[in-house]
Amino acid sequence: MVAIIGGAVAGSEAAAACAARGAIPVVFEQGARPYGKIEDGLPRWHQKLRDKEYLKINENLGSDAVIFVPKTEIGAALPWDELYRELGFSAVVLANGAWRDRRLPVEGADAYEGRGLVYQNEFVYWFNHYEDEGYDGPVFEIPDDTIVVGGGLASIDVVKIVNLELYARALRARGIDVDIVEMEIKGIPRTLEAVGLSAEELGVKGCTLYYRRRKEDMPLASADNPTPEQLAKLQNARVKIMDRVIRKYFVKFEELSRPIETIVEGDRLTGIRFQKTEVVDGRVRGVEGSEFDVGASMVISSIGSIPRPIEGIPTKGELYHYDSWDTGEVHGLPGVFGLGNVLTGKGNIRDSRTNAIEIIEKVVAAYLGVGDEAVETPGRGSAEATEVAEQAAAGKAMSVDAMKALSERIERRHEEIGYDSFSTWIDAHA
Ligand SMILES: Cc1cc2nc3c(=O)[nH]c(=O)nc-3n(C[C@H](O)[C@H](O)[C@H](O)COP(=O)(O)OP(=O)(O)OC[C@H]3O[C@@H](n4cnc5c(N)ncnc54)[C@H](O)[C@@H]3O)c2cc1C
Repeated sequence: MVAIIGGAVAGSEAAAACAARGAIPVVFEQGARPYGKIEDGLPRWHQKLRDKEYLKINENLGSDAVIFVPKTEIGAALPWDELYRELGFSAVVLANGAWRDRRLPVEGADAYEGRGLVYQNEFVYWFNHYEDEGYDGPVFEIPDDTIVVGGGLASIDVVKIVNLELYARALRARGIDVDIVEMEIKGIPRTLEAVGLSAEELGVKGCTLYYRRRKEDMPLASADNPTPEQLAKLQNARVKIMDRVIRKYFVKFEELSRPIETIVEGDRLTGIRFQKTEVVDGRVRGVEGSEFDVGASMVISSIGSIPRPIEGIPTKGELYHYDSWDTGEVHGLPGVFGLGNVLTGKGNIRDSRTNAIEIIEKVVAAYLGVGDEAVETPGRGSAEATEVAEQAAAGKAMSVDAMKALSERIERRHEEIGYDSFSTWIDAHA
């Protein structure tokens, strides 16, 4: 039996691959619903993509060969040591994604979280859920001097959310109700045109995105080891993407600017002091004497997501400590592997899925001794994968008694949370 932590793209894919190899996957999911960043990260206008991914996850987790245990956060409802050392699983797979915001690198800024400083993950969560019946999460009133610090794809979603909300509110104040999802598709200029109003008439200032590098450096399009020609094309694509965001959503953009200090009034953050930068040999350097202050009632930090620490899992810097990025093997914890966003750090559905399949097939199946021989495919990390698989060649078989005890423990948990079957649970938690 294999424990999988997290039931979203990577976790559900790993569960299906385990089941296909004859192992019994037990998926522990902290939420009632297993959709992870698909539900809480992707802004709600990605309806088609979301529905498609929900279907895939449902198909994977709804199989009789998979045991799903929702509402069970590892590290809280079920401590790591109990899961890893007492329950006797043959292997443990970390598919728990990146649920912690990377901290804004400005001394003392975190003291103002909730008092002027907002992090991306809770902001997007609010945007996706505030219309849900019984929503009781954080609530944000977006002021019209909001700024965003970031530069990656997620920060583009954040600036879009801010401006869509600001313009929707201004239109509502004039008695015009607009649907945010429709406005995202049409863009703000066309939406205003359709109701015969101009941006000037509405008087919305809109938000500004501050990025420490240049527009052409934004990680909005990327490739592994691009040739100079490919790089030039990528840079061109990045500029085009950002220019489109600026045009279509009236976003303002300040490149080569990095936050260096808080501006505070009383107990609130009221702005950020920035410094202009230059990029020398790929590195960002501050330009002395170029500091400038920006007042903002809300500063949203959107500079990346990292895995949440779980007591018992070793970390290295802000990530879990892996012995190999190719096998996802966790340092000092035999039989524990990371996969998906928790390992790749790439906020990308396709990468999470591909990586989950790659790791499960190369390593976990071999580790369990239930799959085919580990196949040495050419390319990144295959040698390491095979090595790990060989090291664990004997596998860690579970005794019948251990399996029985584990099944009883899972049954008890299902009773505690009132879980019956995947489909009835999902229907009840729509
Ligand atoms: C704003 C934003 C926009 C994005 N836009 C795109 C896009 O346009 N295209 C794209 O391809 N990708 C996009 N992404 C990224 C994409 O959504 C993710 O990279 C991908 O869904 C990650 O899948 P995953 O399964 O690896 O991780 P996650 O979806 O993060 O799943 C991890 C799961 O683990 C659970 N979990 C976490 N901790 C625990 C614990 N301790 N115990 C039990 N369960 C736990 C979580 O609840 C979750 O269900 C975006 C992300 C964000 C934030």
